[in-house]
Amino acid sequence: TIEFVRATQLQGNEEPSGPSPPSQAQQKESVQAVRRSLPVFPFREELLAAIADHQVLIIEGETGSGKTTQIPQYLFEEGYTKKGMKIACTQPRRVAAMSVAARVAREMGVKLGNEVGYSIRFEDCTSERTVLRYMTDGMLLREFLSEPDLASYSVVMIDEAHERTLHTDILFGLIKDVARFRPELKVLVASATLDTARFSTFFDDAPVFRIPGRRFPVDIFYTKAPEADYLEACVVSVLQIHVTQPPGDILVFLTGQEEIEAACEMLQDRCRRLGSKIRELLVLPIYANLPSDMQARIFQPTPPGARKVVVATNIAETSLTIEGIIYVLDPGFCKQKSYNPRTGMESLTVTPCSKASANQRAGRAGRVAAGKCFRLYTAWAYQHELEETTVPEIQRTSLGNVVLLLKSLGIHDLMHFDFLDPPPYETLLLALEQLYALGALNHLGELTTSGRKMAELPVDPMLSKMILASEKYSCSEEILTVAAMLSVNNSIFYRPKDKVVHADNARVNFFLPGGDHLVLLNVYTQWAESGYSSQWCYENFVQFRSMRRARDVREQLEGLLERVEVGLSSCQGDYIRVRKAITAGYFYHTARLTRSGYRTVKQQQTVFIHPNSSLFEEQPRWLLYHELVLTTKEFMRQVLEIESSWLLEVAPHYYKAKELEDPHSKKMPKKIGKTREELG
Ligand code: ADP
Ligand code: MG
Repeated sequence: TIEFVRATQLQGNEEPSGPSPPSQAQQKESVQAVRRSLPVFPFREELLAAIADHQVLIIEGETGSGKTTQIPQYLFEEGYTKKGMKIACTQPRRVAAMSVAARVAREMGVKLGNEVGYSIRFEDCTSERTVLRYMTDGMLLREFLSEPDLASYSVVMIDEAHERTLHTDILFGLIKDVARFRPELKVLVASATLDTARFSTFFDDAPVFRIPGRRFPVDIFYTKAPEADYLEACVVSVLQIHVTQPPGDILVFLTGQEEIEAACEMLQDRCRRLGSKIRELLVLPIYANLPSDMQARIFQPTPPGARKVVVATNIAETSLTIEGIIYVLDPGFCKQKSYNPRTGMESLTVTPCSKASANQRAGRAGRVAAGKCFRLYTAWAYQHELEETTVPEIQRTSLGNVVLLLKSLGIHDLMHFDFLDPPPYETLLLALEQLYALGALNHLGELTTSGRKMAELPVDPMLSKMILASEKYSCSEEILTVAAMLSVNNSIFYRPKDKVVHADNARVNFFLPGGDHLVLLNVYTQWAESGYSSQWCYENFVQFRSMRRARDVREQLEGLLERVEVGLSSCQGDYIRVRKAITAGYFYHTARLTRSGYRTVKQQQTVFIHPNSSLFEEQPRWLLYHELVLTTKEFMRQVLEIESSWLLEVAPHYYKAKELEDPHSKKMPKKIGKTREELG
């Protein structure tokens, strides 16, 4: 067991009614009754009046008060979608956009994709009739490319503004500008109870509309001592809560799909072993790549006598509200991107969350009754080790994508763009340099023809460049597949705990000389030959739904080829051409083997081949990688063997022959690094 100590209480504004689950009656009420019971409802008229009176309105309200699902409906009912005008509501997360749109469609009694729809990258569930459009912030950003003044929208609601994602931050600047010359456009900025004063200042002191939410007190508990293995600690704590605490569902915050799946498996396993000794525990995961039917399950009411535990990413922090949560279990971590503009290295790491995050998470326990939050860290750690707030994404990510987009919108002077918080100068400079190296910008920093095409493709500049280069190497068929497989990244192979050996063998069977990109190509090609069969996936330990998604992505990219003037062609088995086209996009991400292991070519950073790579044992002298992941070390994921001469062929302006010479070309160390077994 894990020992928790009660330390503080998150104050509520409601009388603690004692921990009791939400009444069954409440869950069965009609949709309209539920709508009327939300905290935003009493403010409907006042809110609509404020929107009529002001062009920009900041809306602050507790999570779950009905901002996302109700406000667009109020606007619809009020006639804001007359004359074919549309309402956009942005979400930082794909899952939130999908799930909320589905909910609103149900509340309005329409089919999803008709009046209400969603649009996320590579998936458009809207039609001509769609007037309420839930979309990711990135998708609205791309709308500017086809409609720079957003003329078909009467209202734009930037939701979850407190998340401060890169795309949301860029939207702020663009929309502020559009609002100036479209006085009839309404702009709503909705946020949890954080940071609203800053938004107001940014939008020329726009008024803040506050929706008081219901908050029951939440008791906060900390562990007595730090926990070494938080995943194990999570599983133990969930069972402990299940056995010792009164009814009410549990929400657990983990950092990503792999962790969530592992935790769910462990929980189910232990429940099975305990059998009828404990009451039924429903274990439900929620993360970005979960198929939508599985997503919907987390919202279904818990059957009487059972308890539900939802194991979620940050998505459940403020984007989604699950009814009936009384207990929150918070290990205190989240996955965060970080970027080093000096080296140009972007990595995704599990880091401690901020105090603001921790408190939002705790708040999730007090929505229907007094709740409890168990933090898997000490009170001391909370005080001394957590940052106050999360640094906005714009300050810890690469900007290549966004800079390319802004350039295509005709915004040249990026240094003076109206940023809520400006990105670091070096990051902006490096983005410009990289786009220049990729041939997207000329030496004056202006968009080239090739740059314009790159902006047309909804993928990162390096990936776009790779696709464009496939024209020259006549291998667009193969490159499209590689691009699609890379974008469903890391969820291709299935590795169940009880069949690890079989799964690993199946994976090794796909290996082809050359590297991981060709392995991905091989998997897809064989799957296509099987007639896109799910049985084939099952037999080969390949995830069917990832493959299906790759197929969707591939189709969409194929549809865009004409726009960027790339013809369909196949390399006919000449994989050198495929590898060269990949190199033409990824010449920035190269490493060479030195006496002391791999070093990136330009910056001389120490990096390692990921143990899952097909080249892990091979250790080729020159390689390129798709991405870096920092866990215990900087690992290169998706690695391809290249020849140094190709770098001169695809990027003569970037590489000089001299820096690609091998000073010790004859004698190379035989093996560097540990074997797979040693790494475990
Ligand atoms: P806010 O945006 O203020 O956080 P929402 O509009 O997201 O609030 O949520 C309002 C209510 O709608 C909540 O009670 C939530 O549980 C419910 N809700 C939202 N999405 C779904 C869904 N997909 N299924 C069932 N209920 C949902
Ligand atoms: Mg919301």
